[in-house]
Amino acid sequence: MDERWQRPRGTQDVLPAEAERMERLRRLVAQVAELYGYGAIETPVFEQTAVFVDGVGGATDIVQHERYSFVDAGGVALTLRPEGTAAIARAYVENGLSAWPKPVRLYYWAPMFRRERPQKGRYRQHQQYGFELYGSPEPTADAEVLLVARRLLQAVGLSPHVLVNSIGCDQCRPRYREALVAYLDSHGAALCGDCRRRLADNPLRVLDCKQDQAVARGAPDIAAFWCDACRSHQEAVVALAAEAGIPVERDPALVRGIDYYSRTVFEVHDPSLGAQSTVLGGGRYDGLTVRVGGAPVPAVGFAGGAERLLMAAGAALGAPRVPSAYVAQVGVGHQGWQAAERLRGAGIPTEVDLMARSLKAQMKEAGRRASVVVLAGGREWEDGLVTVKRLSDGREAAVALANLAGTVREWLNGVEAEHAEPK
Ligand SMILES: [Zn+2]
Ligand SMILES: [Zn+2]
Repeated sequence: MDERWQRPRGTQDVLPAEAERMERLRRLVAQVAELYGYGAIETPVFEQTAVFVDGVGGATDIVQHERYSFVDAGGVALTLRPEGTAAIARAYVENGLSAWPKPVRLYYWAPMFRRERPQKGRYRQHQQYGFELYGSPEPTADAEVLLVARRLLQAVGLSPHVLVNSIGCDQCRPRYREALVAYLDSHGAALCGDCRRRLADNPLRVLDCKQDQAVARGAPDIAAFWCDACRSHQEAVVALAAEAGIPVERDPALVRGIDYYSRTVFEVHDPSLGAQSTVLGGGRYDGLTVRVGGAPVPAVGFAGGAERLLMAAGAALGAPRVPSAYVAQVGVGHQGWQAAERLRGAGIPTEVDLMARSLKAQMKEAGRRASVVVLAGGREWEDGLVTVKRLSDGREAAVALANLAGTVREWLNGVEAEHAEPK
């Protein structure tokens, strides 16, 4: 096929069956948000580039290699949103949400754009869900977002396992950074090219480089450098999560590749997924609002890719189709059209032939698409009647047009009840 008419590399077309699963997931995210009091927020698909360069950090992969940036006709530097948190911090500051009663709980479901290396379940335009909790410095806030993450993952049939770490604060992280750089310098020759560059501007990132695991394992542990406040915060988060029955494990190499984090960072895995088991990630970002022009506000949250979660969820979101009706036209005319629209008016999903098929071919089509078929037209129609037929058991009756919707709904409910029975 001519390359010009192919979708851009690393993107996807979402066709109806997958779009339906995606929509189910979106509703599930909204339900969990409602349970915990998180309100929806929507920000523009693009922002001024500075929001991400300053918010996410100039030395991160997202900003250096992965952003889609452009200058518009007015000369404004814009970037397609590569992640939600910095954009929401910008919106939080700009809309004065710091004046709202605390804490402020927000969630989003939005497309993100990153020029990543294409791989299974990872797209250059992908759908993300995320939860952001503003205004509380307490460990209970960190623990609450872990509860939200757990409830969401359990709802799609996963068994979350949390890896957690603290990357310290402005008081204690500089001392750790120094010790880490000294250690990494002494192993400089063993590091990959990327990490040799990271040494100067983002040394913590070396810890989660896949190629440098051997060096990372010998690195000093940040736990030895935590200040008292960071230590007790981390211990409280771990204790609260464990108390709530969430399996948590400390991972000293967990740093996450974004500059705005402070103290808590975490990743949620499902061990049943094997090597690519990370489902979502997050942490605390107390300094982020300052990076986008506001006063400091403590905040914590997480985000995950919807495609990734759908892949992990497997059949859990693949509920059977809603039982629907099909109207077959008997003989010549458009009575089938009228009957179908009558059913839709009563809220019943209904299809009707648009291919001028024979009655036999329409019945075959009905078998593929619907649970109940209605035959409309001919002599019967002149008498004000249609035939209703249930495909699962062949039950059949002639009913008055006035009773059509009621009968079809009743018979469809019967089908639904059969579907609902445990197998
Ligand atoms: Zn500290
Ligand atoms: Zn490396």
